[in-house]
Amino acid sequence: MIEIKNLHHRYPDGTYALKGIDLAISGGEFLLICGPNGSGKTTLIRLISGLLKPTSGSVHVNGFNTLNESKQVRGLMGMVFQDPDSQIVGETVREDITFGPENLGLSKQEIDERVDWALRAMGLETLSEKPCYHLSGGEKRRLAIAGVLAMKSRVILFDEPFSFLDYPGIQEVLRFMIQLHREGHTLIVTTHDVEKVIAHVDRIAVIHDGELKISGSPEGLLMKLPEFGIRPPCYALLGKEKFSWLE
Ligand code: ADP
Ligand code: MG
Repeated sequence: MIEIKNLHHRYPDGTYALKGIDLAISGGEFLLICGPNGSGKTTLIRLISGLLKPTSGSVHVNGFNTLNESKQVRGLMGMVFQDPDSQIVGETVREDITFGPENLGLSKQEIDERVDWALRAMGLETLSEKPCYHLSGGEKRRLAIAGVLAMKSRVILFDEPFSFLDYPGIQEVLRFMIQLHREGHTLIVTTHDVEKVIAHVDRIAVIHDGELKISGSPEGLLMKLPEFGIRPPCYALLGKEKFSWLE
């Protein structure tokens, strides 16, 4: 579903953030992209979503090239940014969720149905008229996911989804991810902190210094992570069985 070929990205100030990434992501896959700070994770998912254009190389989503077919690509993609505040556009919770589907040019009835459904799915019904700036960190993250759901995005990109969240907030986001994965969405999650989600993903891709170092099943790669500046989950360090943050 997503084909990344020899992808390079250089920022205008000369920073060479991605150096030849090749990666294919299947429909319905739950992929974890991990790497230390500054390794290029956010740059990579911004390129996948079409928000950034490659310096060279290509990203295709369902056959559409992000370079010149970004409109079609954006119709398939939803992005949950690292900082939930940067994503809030509405005054109230309902207004904020309405913004995306409104931009798709849907009928009023279709918009209302999608917004009600997304509010319910994220457990935000009772907060629907609340001003967004009164929400807690966990509620803001749920709001960001609700906005993406209301767009019916096939692919959902989460950039460091567990930052700013307490333990119950992390569990809540994990539960939604698992549910979205079950419903057939393609999920791509970036983090430097693999512990929280690793038990649930299909595959890990490790990036370091702008290069894709290894990718494969979580079990096979766990003990190789420290070579790339990533801490393996505690259960692996202790030689224990896979352990979920939901247990
Ligand atoms: P990560 O998400 O893994 O922490 P980023 O993709 O944010 O990494 O950053 C990769 C590299 O690109 C870093 O060296 C960072 O400083 C640089 N970078 C990120 N955004 C910009 C930008 N807008 N302009 C210049 N350099 C940037
Ligand atoms: Mg980042």
